[in-house]
Amino acid sequence: MTDRFETLAVHAGAEPDPETGAVVPAIQMSTTFKQDGVGGLRGGFEYGRSGNPTRAALESTIATLENGTYGLAFASGLAATQAIGYLLDPGHRLLMSDDVYGGTWRLADKVWRRYGIETDPIDLRDLDAVAAAFNVEKPPRLVWIETPSNPLMKVIDISAVARLAAVVGAITVVDNTFATPYLQRPLELGADLALHSATKYLGGHSDVVSGLIATRSDELAERLRFHQNAAGAVPSPFDCFLVMRGLRTLALRMERASANALVLALWLCERPEVATVHYPGLPDHPAAALVVRQMRLPGAMLSVELQDEARARRFVGATRLFTLAESLGAVESLIELPAPMTHASVADSPLAVSPALVRLSVGIENVDDLRADLEQAFAASVQ
Ligand code: PLP
Repeated sequence: MTDRFETLAVHAGAEPDPETGAVVPAIQMSTTFKQDGVGGLRGGFEYGRSGNPTRAALESTIATLENGTYGLAFASGLAATQAIGYLLDPGHRLLMSDDVYGGTWRLADKVWRRYGIETDPIDLRDLDAVAAAFNVEKPPRLVWIETPSNPLMKVIDISAVARLAAVVGAITVVDNTFATPYLQRPLELGADLALHSATKYLGGHSDVVSGLIATRSDELAERLRFHQNAAGAVPSPFDCFLVMRGLRTLALRMERASANALVLALWLCERPEVATVHYPGLPDHPAAALVVRQMRLPGAMLSVELQDEARARRFVGATRLFTLAESLGAVESLIELPAPMTHASVADSPLAVSPALVRLSVGIENVDDLRADLEQAFAASVQ
């Protein structure tokens, strides 16, 4: 058709129905499918956990948008993460970015560890350290990259890490939730798997919990498909429909939200209340050159360190347009304190974050209104 993202996002997985002409794929609720004789499947569908036409449409859409071959949909981002965990066996080790979503670390540290899978947190920006971590007698079997990372916006060189992993046959996974395939396509950069919490930008409207994986590997797709069915953490057809609807406007939303975020990040750099701004689009971001190489735009997530925790708590409690809430990536702007909220599960771990850190998910509202809201919240948070 085309390889231009905006067009693909609107049309992928949405051929008009040949029988009815419906332009929007149907939400197919049936949990079972008539067989023409035993094993005679009409559309390849047998049972709703194993496969469903609405889910298949979403899976093919994410495969296209990530420039992959296969897509797999799950009940949440963490259900997709768990499916990747099933690729490992007891005795295997994995490397994980030392700044990731708290729930990802919790799953590795509190669940996978119980099954004999050890996770080493590592600063994946340090390529010498990564090379050394792979250059051991029993190298890690998987490397988990989150870039830009949550919540410190560290940017990791996907191609470089994937190259080092490939030397020892390790699987490279990129959690592409913050960037989305509009801004960054990990499979094109050598990663084996791109993972999404589709709850965030892909859904885009804070109304669906979902997870997606895309890959080009026949072998990984087959193993993941087996576990998708065997463990059964699949999304409902309605959830798949909502994610697909969100994807249609992904490019527009990312453009607007990223533009808003850049304006706010530059403004926040000038504020006396702010000690540090973490935003990949700032000219002095430590990986500014890599951001230009690896991402179309720097995205719409940013975090700021205020002077102390008390001020940060008052600040996030005083915004009016920015809603104090967990999650991110929707049309509306959200604000939160990672330490007691999204990253509470990494307290007392090597991934613990400062209690004075405030994370903003910048939405698509008018940027002057967003700036005015932050300004009044700074004023209101003076004691
Ligand atoms: N990855 C990232 C970067 C996230 O921010 C989240 C959730 O906040 C997840 C994965 C987990 O996704 P879900 O909440 O859909 O299970």
